[in-house]
Amino acid sequence: MEKREELYKGKAKSVYTTDDPDRLILYFRNDTSAFDGKKTAQLDRKGMVNNKFNAYIMQKLEEAGIPTQMDQLLSDQESLVKRLDMVPVECVVRNISAGSICRRLGVQEGLDLNPPTFEFFLKNDDLGDPMINEYHIESFGWAKAEHIEVMKELTFKVNDVLKALFAEAGLLLVDYKLEFGIYKGQVVLGDEFTPDGCRLWDKDTREKLDKDRFRQGLGGVVEAYEAVGQRLGINFD
Ligand code: 5GP
Repeated sequence: MEKREELYKGKAKSVYTTDDPDRLILYFRNDTSAFDGKKTAQLDRKGMVNNKFNAYIMQKLEEAGIPTQMDQLLSDQESLVKRLDMVPVECVVRNISAGSICRRLGVQEGLDLNPPTFEFFLKNDDLGDPMINEYHIESFGWAKAEHIEVMKELTFKVNDVLKALFAEAGLLLVDYKLEFGIYKGQVVLGDEFTPDGCRLWDKDTREKLDKDRFRQGLGGVVEAYEAVGQRLGINFD
């Protein structure tokens, strides 16, 4: 597999084309950012930890029957993935209240949400990723109605799989964001699943072990990501 030109540079990953038009290489950089890119930093080992974390989670999701873009780990910071036609929408499921929903609805952090709640956001940094609904997605042509349904179904299926996986490691999956794309007509999970895009709390102490450590300046960001990975049995050596 030959790595060719940089197709896209996101806030934490770069995407490269390859000699196969159906495959891309994701390069997980050590960069981290929050607040739509207003706070940034370089964190040693982060690219490697997130690349391996993501590969492990995607494999678990594949095993559970969820189609993902993941093909294989290529190196410490690179993965080979299918080239999807990305839907510019973020799908968020919340099991426990935290983050933006607390600010928007004036609810306290830490409430169990039963049933878990679901939100769509438009991927647009300039607008601060505004919340949107299914009508917006269809009316503006960001995704077809039948694809929106599959995105919702898959996002909830991910919740069943990962809530159980993290629970076994003594962790609460508070919330997470997924992005999907279309590959050969099928809805496929894209982007990544790492502690950059979800909230994970220790079940007993409720210690935050995710990107909120960076957002809130708590320190020990990569150490927390690595500790979560080790509790899942991921080998970072
Ligand atoms: P909130 O809406 O509370 O800011 O985020 C809900 C969940 O989705 C959190 O786990 C958060 O990390 C994730 N999330 C929402 N938007 C983004 C985003 O633009 N980038 C990343 N990495 N995660 C996001």
